[in-house]
Amino acid sequence: MTRWLAEYAWLPEHAEPTPDVLIEATDGRLTAVTPLTGGGPPAAGVEVLGDATRLPGLTLPGLANAHSHAFHRALRGRTHDGRGDFWSWRDLMYAVAARLDPDSYLALARAAYAEMALAGITCVGEFHYLHHGPGGTPYDDPNAMSAALVEAAAHAGVRLTLLDAAYLTAGVDGAELVGPQRRFGDGDALRWAERVDAFRPTDGHVRLGAAVHSVRAVPAEQLATVAGWADRHGLPLHAHLSEQPAENDACRAVHGCTPTRLLADHGVLGRHTTAVHATHPTAADVALLGDSGTGVCLCPTTERDLADGIGPARRIAEAGSPLSLGSDSHAVVDLFEEARAVELDERLRTRRRGHFTAAELLAAATVTGHAALGWGDAGRLAVGDRADLVTVGLDSARTAGVPPVGAFFAATAADVTQVVVDGRTVVADGRHLTVDVPTELRDSIATVTS
Ligand SMILES: [Zn+2]
Repeated sequence: MTRWLAEYAWLPEHAEPTPDVLIEATDGRLTAVTPLTGGGPPAAGVEVLGDATRLPGLTLPGLANAHSHAFHRALRGRTHDGRGDFWSWRDLMYAVAARLDPDSYLALARAAYAEMALAGITCVGEFHYLHHGPGGTPYDDPNAMSAALVEAAAHAGVRLTLLDAAYLTAGVDGAELVGPQRRFGDGDALRWAERVDAFRPTDGHVRLGAAVHSVRAVPAEQLATVAGWADRHGLPLHAHLSEQPAENDACRAVHGCTPTRLLADHGVLGRHTTAVHATHPTAADVALLGDSGTGVCLCPTTERDLADGIGPARRIAEAGSPLSLGSDSHAVVDLFEEARAVELDERLRTRRRGHFTAAELLAAATVTGHAALGWGDAGRLAVGDRADLVTVGLDSARTAGVPPVGAFFAATAADVTQVVVDGRTVVADGRHLTVDVPTELRDSIATVTS
């Protein structure tokens, strides 16, 4: 058994953190979570718990990054000059995609996931569409890129949900994939399913899921094949949705309806589905998402970076969609920033404050994100859940003097001091125990950009 004594821990259903919490785990599962005091300031003198590791600061459940494209990390700082929009950014992204192979992707993803571990992310949802070799020729192992991502997550010490994305066409009109996009395509949804069926990783840190890249990339008549595959296997299904007004316009022009309506009509929405972005939904779209229990993954720092716009997060939540968070393009890897951006963006839009409580933001960053990735047993400091602990120092220049409940409005990824994943310490004293993150990021990015 392993024991930790958290100066403060944020327990499920609590509006704010609790002081002096003894946390015990065996075989990667929490076996006891015990507040030692009845409130008030942390008690001094805990010598009786000499075998427990002290966790100074605020300990949170593991953070879930529900939307990642690992290779986009190579673009950070390379696309920010000058004008442009999502579409011009995408051309730069394709240039990196064209350079990757299973070895260089393993190195880049390992570094990117290790950066996430440093930021307190214990589980990543990898929305994976770079499947094949140059020109779209499959590798000898057609799932070699998937295997590289699974291995990368193992090295970085984080859990992974590999959301294998069907990416079949270049536009809503069914245009063929061209250039680097050909590496994404399996031809049709049946062949996509055949390839995914052949990939059965047995490692405990990985689970599979499916993804519809977008209504641009999966023809309407093939949406049900992807959705049916996920449903048959009881796995999560994700889809990019209405990130751009142009996608809505193209969908209306071809199908006479919004992307959300199209997904609803082809069985893509539901409790096991997560729509990523939902930045430009109509009121009817918001109702369709909420009534079907479809989750929504917001990626505010990417939406900010790509000039996508601000989604109606509060209306989406009130309609019934659970909210999760993703760093998506990794312009920023910091779920504290993503979480507070959900609130702060609403303030910019409405010119009013106070849309989400700190506990709601915590849920989006933890338990809801894990659930969206198919890990219903993670994201809470509760007996029986996975022993994921993320400790945030409350003594940095950013967090000193901040009450623990205010951590989501003050802390950054750099304030994460300790990360435990499934009972195993991955980050201690702010350092990754097995990966030299800056060096590996620098070298792996140089390989695919120089
Ligand atoms: Zn994305």
